[in-house]
Amino acid sequence: MTYHVDALILRTRNVGEADELITLFTREKGKQTIRAKGIRKIKSKLRGNLEPVSHVRLGLAKGRSFDVVTEAKMTDRFSTIKAQPRLYGLAAKAIELTDVLTFEHEKDRAIYELLLYTLKALTRSSVPSSAVVLPPPPAYSESDTRLILAAFEIQLLKLLGYDPHLRRCVVCNQEVTPRASLLFDERSGGIVGSECRSHATSEITLTTAKFVNLSSERPAVAWGARITPMPAVEEVERVVNALRRRFTEKGNMKSERYLDSLT
Ligand SMILES: [Zn+2]
Repeated sequence: MTYHVDALILRTRNVGEADELITLFTREKGKQTIRAKGIRKIKSKLRGNLEPVSHVRLGLAKGRSFDVVTEAKMTDRFSTIKAQPRLYGLAAKAIELTDVLTFEHEKDRAIYELLLYTLKALTRSSVPSSAVVLPPPPAYSESDTRLILAAFEIQLLKLLGYDPHLRRCVVCNQEVTPRASLLFDERSGGIVGSECRSHATSEITLTTAKFVNLSSERPAVAWGARITPMPAVEEVERVVNALRRRFTEKGNMKSERYLDSLT
């Protein structure tokens, strides 16, 4: 029995003489690992078509432990992303987060759409060479692309059933009345009211809190409207890292070490 899926490739690893096990996030079935037979042979038609950070349409045949690729058609190779180390690092982070925080065979169309949308959004950050005679697409700065990733992570947490809002005190759950800034407790990954402040907290701006709250409320496709003023990206990333640790206990990502190595 064969079937087709639209998939984003998360990761690959070599098995056997010339095969690969490929982990996908599919529109139809959520995360799924499949086998590509003979893909490492020079004459394999699949070669080069099933690399991480690619959007593909696959034909699959039911297999005993893993379903097997029978055909692969490239939808988008995301060449713009792959040509730029920093963009590639951000895309790799979106992919790694999706991989680490989801389980196989849990269909989730919204996560698929979110990841696809985010990869597409990142590609707007540079002008393709074919566009020399055309007006350039709206370009994103480096901090814009990092904010896109932060918004992705907040939305992913939300879709996974967590509540990454910065509205209520993480200690007593009372709504915090916003003043000029908010107290953020990095250890517990949330804001605290002044009456619950017990140990070292740092201040974060209302702009950062607004960014986090908006990003968790809006469906991915609606994000893209600029928030004015834009928050400081370092502060947003610090908050998002703390939120991830609070809900998932996942610390540093491999892709974050790669991104750090670029600076
Ligand atoms: Zn409190």
